[in-house]
Amino acid sequence: MKLIDGKIVSEQLLTEISKNIQQHTNIRSPHLAIVMVGNHPASETYVNAKIKTCEKFGFKGSLYKYPESIKEKELLSEIQKLNEYHEIDGVIVQLPLPKHISEHQVIETISPNKDVDGFHPINIGRMAKNLPALLPATPGGILELLKFYQIETVGKHCVVIGRSNIVGSPMSILMGRNGYPGNCTVSLCHSKTQNLEFFLKNADIIIAAAGQPELVKGDMVKEGVVVIDVGIHRVPDTSKKSGYRLIGDVEFETVAPKSSFITPVPGGVGPMTIAVLLKNTYLAWQQSIINKKI
Ligand code: NDP
Repeated sequence: MKLIDGKIVSEQLLTEISKNIQQHTNIRSPHLAIVMVGNHPASETYVNAKIKTCEKFGFKGSLYKYPESIKEKELLSEIQKLNEYHEIDGVIVQLPLPKHISEHQVIETISPNKDVDGFHPINIGRMAKNLPALLPATPGGILELLKFYQIETVGKHCVVIGRSNIVGSPMSILMGRNGYPGNCTVSLCHSKTQNLEFFLKNADIIIAAAGQPELVKGDMVKEGVVVIDVGIHRVPDTSKKSGYRLIGDVEFETVAPKSSFITPVPGGVGPMTIAVLLKNTYLAWQQSIINKKI
């Protein structure tokens, strides 16, 4: 069993990008704008981590914070302003949003060129057609992990658990595309799938993004399987200073001994999501330089 270390891979990816940025001493650095609505404690933690990572690797990260009471129309007009601001390369809106604001409207208002979360239908469509696109950050991060560890994917049976717009669905498209990583035969499982175990037992690669703690157990998988665990869950643990520990959608203790490669939680997929967000911001910045919008 080999552990897939997302910390090492993300650090290496971002260090390389950071070196490239430093070569352009005469132009501004890539700039990520993070829009946040209300005071969601988990969102604050994620936003702070993104801004800290920006600073560490030579990006500019700006937080645009709005009250919970902001009207949808007003928020959309604020996003429009960020779209038009040439010194901003990437715009993301921290989810979840308050109930009175439509997530779809917000995502579709972000300019596809600045959609560094890769959620805009134009980027999803381009991704599905295997055209250059800003990839959704978590699935994009999983591709980086597979590449780094040179994991064979051609002709393999990949089972993706979960069909959300941000993880499972795009992941299933990416693994089925003609390219590397890709060329898999993909089964996309969800809560209505009958006999999930049948699919898991026949999987060469499992990508678990169901949001169900330790759903995948050792007796459900075959020997030599590659396991990518996207899930993150806090469970109480009095032996930890924080009072909790993190677990995934995979029961690590029983699945790891049977797997050829496996991601831990934490330290697997998590660090890759931020890394690809910044990679996308870097790509958008490069485009903006080409378009002389600096
Ligand atoms: P969602 O809740 O949006 O989607 C969960 C999906 O899993 C749904 O499609 C659902 O099916 C399916 N599902 C739920 N229960 C089962 C089950 N028992 N068997 C099979 N399928 C099931 O979750 P997300 O995609 O947003 O996130 C998934 C997990 O990944 C969460 O734990 C989240 O915290 C984590 N995450 C981690 C990230 C990281 O950076 N590491 C980034 C993003 C998410 P249906 O459609 O039928 O309801």
